[in-house]
Amino acid sequence: MMKDLTCIIIGGGYVGLAALKLIKEKTKGMTNGRRIRFVLIDKEPGHLRKFRLFRPTTVEEEIMIPWNDLVLEGFEFVHGTVTFVDSGEKRIQYTDAQGNDAQIHYDLLVVAVGSSVRRPDPNQGGITLVDPQEASEIRKRWRANMRKAAHETNPKERKRLTTIAIVGAGISGIETSADLALAMKREATALGLNSFDTSVYLLNSQERLLPEVSEKYRQKLVQELSKCGVTVLNNRKVLREEAGLVTFSNGDSLPVSICIWMIGLIPNPGLRGMGLPLTSDGRVVVDGSYRVKGAPGVYSIGDCARIVDPKTGEEDQMTCFEGSLQAFRLAKIVMADQEGRPAPIHRSSKPNMDNYFNIGLGQEGVFWIRKWGLDMVMTGKLPGKIKKFVEDKASMLR
Ligand SMILES: Cc1cc2nc3c(=O)[nH]c(=O)nc-3n(C[C@H](O)[C@H](O)[C@H](O)COP(=O)(O)OP(=O)(O)OC[C@H]3O[C@@H](n4cnc5c(N)ncnc54)[C@H](O)[C@@H]3O)c2cc1C
Repeated sequence: MMKDLTCIIIGGGYVGLAALKLIKEKTKGMTNGRRIRFVLIDKEPGHLRKFRLFRPTTVEEEIMIPWNDLVLEGFEFVHGTVTFVDSGEKRIQYTDAQGNDAQIHYDLLVVAVGSSVRRPDPNQGGITLVDPQEASEIRKRWRANMRKAAHETNPKERKRLTTIAIVGAGISGIETSADLALAMKREATALGLNSFDTSVYLLNSQERLLPEVSEKYRQKLVQELSKCGVTVLNNRKVLREEAGLVTFSNGDSLPVSICIWMIGLIPNPGLRGMGLPLTSDGRVVVDGSYRVKGAPGVYSIGDCARIVDPKTGEEDQMTCFEGSLQAFRLAKIVMADQEGRPAPIHRSSKPNMDNYFNIGLGQEGVFWIRKWGLDMVMTGKLPGKIKKFVEDKASMLR
């Protein structure tokens, strides 16, 4: 009997999970008469729902889902941190949960180790929303500050204690600010404070919010944010937060109780030293079919890879949307490579992406679609529900 072929996926984020599911479905667990054994390896004990990273800033919500609780079946899970890909010997080296070094052989390998949240310089102060622990820490801090505010007699200090600044106005900054503003209002009412006295400032370094969307959508979004209690300040470059004071490059300042940095994502720093070819900014170099240069059987997709449309030269962004489309194509590529057929080539998904946005604001949302000559904006509960549905699907919840 022929030996099983081992397909290892490194990283069970949204993109790694999609790759595992789609390769399993596409191959039906077999290739060239050999059974495929699927192994998922991740450094965490569960799948982190990154979209909802900000949720524990307002409520106690579990955003790390144990691997056994996902709808996916038919794979082995290895809890370990991959340190090196030995592409000559076709094996990965990792440190297991007990801290021991170990290795596994692969025939096929998908590197989907994703990204990390970008931190500012340590001397810029504030707190960065990096993981669920930091999110819970933020929740404890603002709630403690609100309790202090309830007993504070100095109005200026009371105002500071009930003010939060979010630096960075991308989608995650927007969603975090809305969630926090709504939760702070609720807490203020419960503590007998005036809910209008709480303030959340969303500090945007650019001239306007989300330059890629239509003016109609932007206006609606700013209006809905303001209803939640969020004030958007454009053209504000933050220098630092120190002792409760945020200072801007134009010399202005803003007293706050907490300053939260949400300034985007960087490719997983752990990739340096993993033995894979990297771009100068630390992303894995792949060809038009996601194959890693000089490493047979190794593919890389998602936030950790530099994916370029060979026709237009356009680069994919670090989004789950684009990563999922890559996973879909990767399953076909793996099949084609196994069968010695020409494999599909990456095509940028940008034109569609630019025309669709759905941003969650608490339980509600603001949805935008620009297609077929329409420029349609929808607000309220339905966009919020759609967002939640898409997120649950991406995390493969039962
Ligand atoms: C707050 C927030 C909101 C967002 N909102 C949106 C949105 O609305 N729409 C959208 O399209 N995108 C959004 N994004 C971006 C989206 O989350 C990412 O594009 C997506 O998570 C990328 O998935 P991935 O699987 O490539 O990487 P990741 O989600 O980063 O997953 C990587 C996985 O690899 C594991 N790993 C890392 N290193 C190792 C190692 N050495 N060994 C073993 N395992 C390892 C990690 O534990 C993790 O499970 C948002 C991001 C954030 C932070």
